[in-house]
Amino acid sequence: MSKPLVAIVGRPNVGKSTFFNRVSGQKLSIVEDTPGVTRDRLYADAEWCGKPFTLIDTGGIEIKSTDEMWKHIKSQAEIAIETADVIIFFCDAKTGLTASDYDVADMLRRSGKPIVLAVNKLDTYKEEILFDFYELGLGVPFGISSEQAKGLGDLLDEVCSYFDQVETEEDADRLKIAIVGKPNAGKSRLTNKLLGYDRTIVSNVAGTTRDAIDTPIEVNGKKYTLIDTAGIRKKR
Ligand code: GDP
Ligand code: MG
Repeated sequence: MSKPLVAIVGRPNVGKSTFFNRVSGQKLSIVEDTPGVTRDRLYADAEWCGKPFTLIDTGGIEIKSTDEMWKHIKSQAEIAIETADVIIFFCDAKTGLTASDYDVADMLRRSGKPIVLAVNKLDTYKEEILFDFYELGLGVPFGISSEQAKGLGDLLDEVCSYFDQVETEEDADRLKIAIVGKPNAGKSRLTNKLLGYDRTIVSNVAGTTRDAIDTPIEVNGKKYTLIDTAGIRKKR
């Protein structure tokens, strides 16, 4: 089995790259005060308690064709949903929750993928700051400080706890549904309707591509993989 893929998703400037660098032990991502400054596509091998995994800083994946923040974050979330085994959703304890945090949390929840909620920049631990973050419906928030390396162990324990499940669940439990039809018959529209949001990308993220058109989805507690065949092209 290949290593589990763990993707970091969140608004610009919440500390994703700081976390990425710390956990991967390499200074690969650019950390800056200016939101949206990370440009590189970034993957790194990481390990926690003897469990190897690949970490993706989705903030570093440049999305073409849009400058708008919300679209950008949404695209990151889509990439994570399509490629990752576990997603770490990053929020910021200093700025608190924003409207886009709720929207992205909604997308992530619908995917049925394991999500771990990180509340970063909690340099001084205050439990009451975490209370608000339960509202996202993503389970227990983990208060961390990426800069000061606080709380990372508990968060990574939680991330690793999903790895065993990743191997078995993927093929065994998921019913795969292929959407087939002539071009323009409304295949993508059906996919979008079931997803609850419009897919904006058919991305091929280098190194992670399984099938960019396979989309995991959870409906009434059951997990499915939607295969939108619109993305399949004939070989010339
Ligand atoms: P990204 O855009 O989500 O990748 O965020 P960055 O990792 O580039 O960090 C944005 C800013 O937040 C930088 O100035 C970091 O130094 C700062 N930052 C990151 N983690 C922490 C933290 O745990 N505590 C504090 N106080 N600042 C942090
Ligand atoms: Mg970054």
